[in-house]
Amino acid sequence: MCEGFVYLVGAGPGDPKLITVRGLELIKKADTIIYDRLVAHRLLAFIRPGAEIVYAGKEPGCHALKQEEICRLMAEKAGAGKVVVRLKGGDPFVFGRGGEEAEALHAAGVRFEVVPGVTSAIAAPAYAGIPATHRDYASTLAIITGNEDPLKDDSSIAWDRIATGADTLIFLMGMANLQEITQRLINGGRSSQTPAALVRWGTRPEQRTLVGTLENIHEQAQRSGFTNPAVIIVGEVVLLREKLKWFENKPLFGKKILITRAREQASVLSEIIEAFGGEAVEFPTIKIAEPENFAPLDQSIKELNNFNWVVFTSVNGVGAFFKRLRHHRKDIRELHNARLCAIGPKTRESLEKYGLLAEYMPGEYRAEEIARGMRGKLTCGERVLLPRAAEARKVLPAALSEMGAVVTEVAAYRTVPESGSGAALREILRRGEIDLVTFTSSSTVRYFADMVGSTLISNMRGKFAVACIGPVTAGTARELGLQVDVVAKEYTIEGLVEAIVKLQESGVKRQESE
Ligand code: SAH
Repeated sequence: MCEGFVYLVGAGPGDPKLITVRGLELIKKADTIIYDRLVAHRLLAFIRPGAEIVYAGKEPGCHALKQEEICRLMAEKAGAGKVVVRLKGGDPFVFGRGGEEAEALHAAGVRFEVVPGVTSAIAAPAYAGIPATHRDYASTLAIITGNEDPLKDDSSIAWDRIATGADTLIFLMGMANLQEITQRLINGGRSSQTPAALVRWGTRPEQRTLVGTLENIHEQAQRSGFTNPAVIIVGEVVLLREKLKWFENKPLFGKKILITRAREQASVLSEIIEAFGGEAVEFPTIKIAEPENFAPLDQSIKELNNFNWVVFTSVNGVGAFFKRLRHHRKDIRELHNARLCAIGPKTRESLEKYGLLAEYMPGEYRAEEIARGMRGKLTCGERVLLPRAAEARKVLPAALSEMGAVVTEVAAYRTVPESGSGAALREILRRGEIDLVTFTSSSTVRYFADMVGSTLISNMRGKFAVACIGPVTAGTARELGLQVDVVAKEYTIEGLVEAIVKLQESGVKRQESE
């Protein structure tokens, strides 16, 4: 017996969040990950730095690694003392060749464990609103491979018995044989009018569902070009979908939404979009960089004691300020003389993480409002520190100075264009895949416009919708030739998504009344 270990882990059906707690724990700890085609790529983001990743393929008809090679590789890595995670789509023991891989490990004397996963056989129908069993409609369930040529005489599937032997029949890998499968079931005595459904890319934002009967589902699939990977569901339970299709009824389902903000901040927005059923496509146009010159920020840190107010106008500003404070081996005690202002709830929250409570937050989350609200709070001659983006607008310092404050504005960070390829961005826009583009600051718009170019922007007018976090960002977007479809009422990420949902719903209503 060697020191290494192999975990046969089910990655779940597609939605990365459907991995088990145990599965994720092992992904984080593995030395080597060997994964299949249908594994959610986002799970690979959790591997630890330095871990080795091997793609084992398994596309229908073209295997990147042969089955024996996969088994040999697992045994070899484990033999070298590695912790190997063999990550397989769905559940490893449901048509995943997990059984064969475990046998090979056993034969090679390699220790292994199996971590079951959520199988697409159950989860794809569930996300389409089809329960596999139901007290009134289905007491039995069969999960069947559709990979076998149903016409071959020595089939291991007893078609005549399976056709009527279980109330719900679920086929995996069956798209290529759909016609033969439905024919066999009808020949085996199942009514040609039995409801049947196909669910493609189940549990993922691109999920598609097709409903028909045993008699016509193949023809429907051909007409709509419905292909793999899909599960086939046969039985009365399919009819429940009309009432239960919860996933596809989400307000942003089927919508591809482009996120242009910096990579570190994109995931907050992506998560909310996905919670509403949308697909977030992260394409950062900006990134956060250090200021070109730290001297003004450093000077202000040196004399923090002299400031009466410190006004934070972004989460980035808070992060950059405290990073620099720490750099000088100082902490929040330096701020004991200052009153604090945060532009909005996220900025306030990030201050709270440092144990600091903001004394003031305006009702509307923008610079103009800060100045208005501080009118009664600020005494003439008081010193205000504004650590923020190098390129920030001048409205706030100007307004505060007019009120008699002595304002020190310092660059805590800069937003610079992301080095990513403009060509790739232009391509996804041109292909018409993006339904809506989000902008969360003027700089995201500016660099988006730089990357896309004014000609394409004007050519693509109306091809995708545009949503902006607030009026300033929207103003920049319009200046650059974009048609703004919606502006958030509350200038936060949540407010932005709420506005997108409303826009979507009004679009749906419009279509319905047409
Ligand atoms: N072990 C896997 C199945 C592997 S066989 C599991 O438990 O899910 C591969 C087949 O699974 C595909 O041909 C398709 O029929 C089905 N499949 C996998 N992921 C799917 C998904 N997200 N949506 C629909 N079908 C899927």
